[in-house]
Amino acid sequence: MAQTLKADGTPAGARIAVDNPATGAVVGHVPDATAQEVAQAIGRARQAQPGWAELDVRSRADFFARARRWLLSHRQEITDCIVEENGKAQEDAIAEIVYCASAFAYWARQAQRLLAQTKIRSSSPFVLGRSMYTRRVPLGVVGVIGPWNNPLLNTFGDVIPALAAGNAVVLKPSEHTPLTALLMERMARECGWPGNVFQVVTGAGATGQALVDTADFVMFTGSTKTGRLVAARAGERLIPCSLELGGKDALIVLADAPLERAVSVTIQGALSNGGQMCTSVERVYVEEPVYDAYVDLLRERFQQVTSGKPAGLGSVDVGAVTFPPQLSTVEDHVNDAVSKGARILAGGHTTPGPGRFFEPTLLVDVDHTMKCMREETFGPTLPVMKVADVEEAVRLVNDSSYGLQASIIGSNIKHARRLAERLEAGCVTINDAQTNYMALGLPMGGWKNSGLGVRHGAEGIRKYTKLQAISANRFPLRRDMHMIPYNPSAYRFILRLVDVMYGTRRGHRNK
Ligand code: NAD
Repeated sequence: MAQTLKADGTPAGARIAVDNPATGAVVGHVPDATAQEVAQAIGRARQAQPGWAELDVRSRADFFARARRWLLSHRQEITDCIVEENGKAQEDAIAEIVYCASAFAYWARQAQRLLAQTKIRSSSPFVLGRSMYTRRVPLGVVGVIGPWNNPLLNTFGDVIPALAAGNAVVLKPSEHTPLTALLMERMARECGWPGNVFQVVTGAGATGQALVDTADFVMFTGSTKTGRLVAARAGERLIPCSLELGGKDALIVLADAPLERAVSVTIQGALSNGGQMCTSVERVYVEEPVYDAYVDLLRERFQQVTSGKPAGLGSVDVGAVTFPPQLSTVEDHVNDAVSKGARILAGGHTTPGPGRFFEPTLLVDVDHTMKCMREETFGPTLPVMKVADVEEAVRLVNDSSYGLQASIIGSNIKHARRLAERLEAGCVTINDAQTNYMALGLPMGGWKNSGLGVRHGAEGIRKYTKLQAISANRFPLRRDMHMIPYNPSAYRFILRLVDVMYGTRRGHRNK
């Protein structure tokens, strides 16, 4: 019997084991979907999409409201699922649920306004009297591909605006954390969403590739390396894509910074989600006058951070390292820094199993020859560097191939804003880190190797549509004066009109 093969040549019907990073125990298995299965899901989505797009905004909002209530009434089950497959602290899982509940409400409320028709005016003599407008049309089937660090927020979170714009969505979560996405599929069923408007396909890279091969738009969140492959394939197919990729976010502590706040923001920014956020603070630059006081306080607080297996609210601050190879990357960055002269002020080691853990680690005496200052670490480590002044801080922040986010801590907001505008990053927060993600009206997207396009804000939903421009001649004459057969006096008149309208003082002579 002929065997069905996956896009990468492996046999169909294969299953992927999902482990709990905090215990090493296998907690589930999911199918490793073949290219054919992805194509079938896309086919079903195509059938379902026109009906979904035709629903009025209020009906779609009603489906969202049901899902929001489901999400909140099942919050413990969802939290447990996220914690089990990702290994993060419960508090970090709750933040994902809060985000999705607010996203359901936000996009239901804003979709109509942000996607409304726009009247267009033109003063060109060729279109006088025309009525013109643009309208937005859903793209069709959106493929969302997500990473493992936020199994709900960076996967299902991007499904919501795509659906709000009238698309059907096929979601491929990370093969390391696929269980939460399957819970969302159950939510859609139990909330009576129209069939196949939202589907999940599970699988590894080849399944994601098959989705890029068949969807009408790809919303990708993941590493810069995979993002380039997705963009290249989308380019070949000439379909649009949006890429939310890696980061090496910097935080600047200014000489006038309130130090307690600076330390709280640094610890939250560096260690929330175990440091496994694209927007994690991964390097700090401190102005010389406050360096010693800041580092003393930071070391004291770092030593108080708890880490280990999450067991309910308040049990640990930092959970497990989710993705096995990530542990080697974190170790490598710490060892590389120490071998080049860095000092460890807290942590520095892998914790013995079961499970994968790395101690919250504070490094000083670092510089830009070290991997920990230039490459994405994606773990609970933080290098801190002394700078002579703001100029040196700006130079070092911008000395990066990434440009996702940056943070500034300082008392003079005017000064901090001016500084923010000199940083090469898609988002800058002042006296905060990461909180901007929760402001759904504020665009979030990376510059440089951190991505293309944005999520959130007007562009965060408009990207899921294509524009149609409609122009109507309400008073059609038998013939417009500019039409063939050309009439020289008509064109002299047009040129005189253009001279008047566009103000060339001498005008153009038409001989
Ligand atoms: P990854 O690139 O390894 O995988 C991401 C997803 O892409 C997975 O679902 C994977 O199966 C899939 N995939 C792999 N090969 C593919 C291919 N050829 N075509 C299509 N899909 C393919 O990333 P990861 O390790 O899961 O996630 C961590 C990375 O994600 C970090 O770099 C982090 O900074 C980034 N991230 C970025 C944001 C952001 O908003 N900018 C948010 C979260 C995570």
